[in-house]
Amino acid sequence: MDKAMIRTRFAPSPTGFMHIGNLRTALFEYLVAKSAGGRFILRIEDTDQERYVEGATEKIYEALAISGIEYDEGPDKDGGFGPYVQSERKNIYMERAMELVEAGRAYLCFCSEDRLEALHDAQKTSDFKGYDRHCRHLDEAEISRYLEEKRPFVIRQKMPLEGETSYDDAVFGRISVANETLEDQVLIKSDGFPTYNFANVIDDHDMQITHVVRGCEYLSSTPKYILLYEAFGYEVPTFVHLPLINGKDGHKLSKRHGATSFEDLLSEGYLPEAIINYLALLGWSPGGTQEIFSLEELCEHFKIKGIQKAPAVFDEDKLKWFNSQYLQAMSNDAFNARAMPYYLEVFGSKPLPARLDILAEILKPRLERLSEIPEKIAFLAERFDYELDLFNHKKMKTSPETAYPVFKKLIPWIESLEVFDHDPVYEGLVEFAKSEGLKNGQVMGPLRAALTAVPVSPGGAVEALCLLGRDEALARLNIAIEKIEAAQAAQA
Ligand code: GLU
Repeated sequence: MDKAMIRTRFAPSPTGFMHIGNLRTALFEYLVAKSAGGRFILRIEDTDQERYVEGATEKIYEALAISGIEYDEGPDKDGGFGPYVQSERKNIYMERAMELVEAGRAYLCFCSEDRLEALHDAQKTSDFKGYDRHCRHLDEAEISRYLEEKRPFVIRQKMPLEGETSYDDAVFGRISVANETLEDQVLIKSDGFPTYNFANVIDDHDMQITHVVRGCEYLSSTPKYILLYEAFGYEVPTFVHLPLINGKDGHKLSKRHGATSFEDLLSEGYLPEAIINYLALLGWSPGGTQEIFSLEELCEHFKIKGIQKAPAVFDEDKLKWFNSQYLQAMSNDAFNARAMPYYLEVFGSKPLPARLDILAEILKPRLERLSEIPEKIAFLAERFDYELDLFNHKKMKTSPETAYPVFKKLIPWIESLEVFDHDPVYEGLVEFAKSEGLKNGQVMGPLRAALTAVPVSPGGAVEALCLLGRDEALARLNIAIEKIEAAQAAQA
């Protein structure tokens, strides 16, 4: 392998959904690698058997595929550094931990749950918290006896008791801790599985990860990992810790801020490419005024030094803006492909409008999210009831009375209309208004109202006419005519 090649990894735990923070981490890891021609690896961290969620790994593959973050190596893409699933590496961790025990850098701990609990309770009022290193001082005979008795044990890291451990984080700078504050943390649990604290070091070394990119919640535990790298004599990778993501209220992003998973955002009608674009700017500054970046452009522009320390703020209004920009920039066909599930929600088994291109044209500039589509186009699938007041327009001086003769004359005009295309229909209606001595709005306004039956619709009379087609448009105009006649009869 090329020595200089950057290798990063995304190491999610299968929880059943992709938190926005995790996806941001995956994206930054991808960008750190891809901006330098490196490789991006997927590793599944499933050693916490108690938290195992059925089908959760598939969700990770799915989220990465949808978001376009493609990995070069992973459980289903062998790159020669596998297995890429931690539960399949169980023996590796145990062997490695035993190496540390031999070297005097780790020890077996036989303390029972009861003892640890009692210790925890006793420490509630004392300054010292954590394991009291009881088993660090067991002699060989005691250890052999406990092993013979088959007592369960964990393996703990033997922390130095003095001095300090430091490293230089690529974002947060120098991080140092006094060794005396470090607990002799568990490396291998009593079920034989490693803790994250151990496995991350072994895996990152074995998979030749050059840049460990992850959330800043690991910033202060990293000195413990540095001590493990040193104990094994492994080369220490570059650490790139990412800033927190907060909600607008300054608190860490959580459920009470609304949608916090990628899946939630997709089902709320956000486009994956808009989400990715927005996430890239959560903690990274491109340094110019450009805000819209495709994934390829992000790869071109991304630099580690543009990552910021200050917490990023997840602002759903800003995400909506990005989404609307992406929606507007889409071709009609691409838009309709994404919008189709929402169209089907509205039309069910009824036929879709023949002019889906016109539908796309009117919707694209009017949406922040795809999920707004059903409400906006319901009038196309259903004939709503309405009050005649819908025909009143003060400025245009229209009313049911002025609309009535217009509708009557429009019936034969629509009957003879051949092409339901925007420009000829528009020109025809303008011509019609002119011949009647009316303003365009005096024809288009009431016509739009009669065809849509709602006060506000995307697009105007021309679009409604093209979308509904001849038969439905005529039927709705006739309903309007009957309504006005009925009202007039009631008044007489
Ligand atoms: N499994 C860890 C998590 O999901 C990975 C942290 C890391 O990237 O090292 O938080």
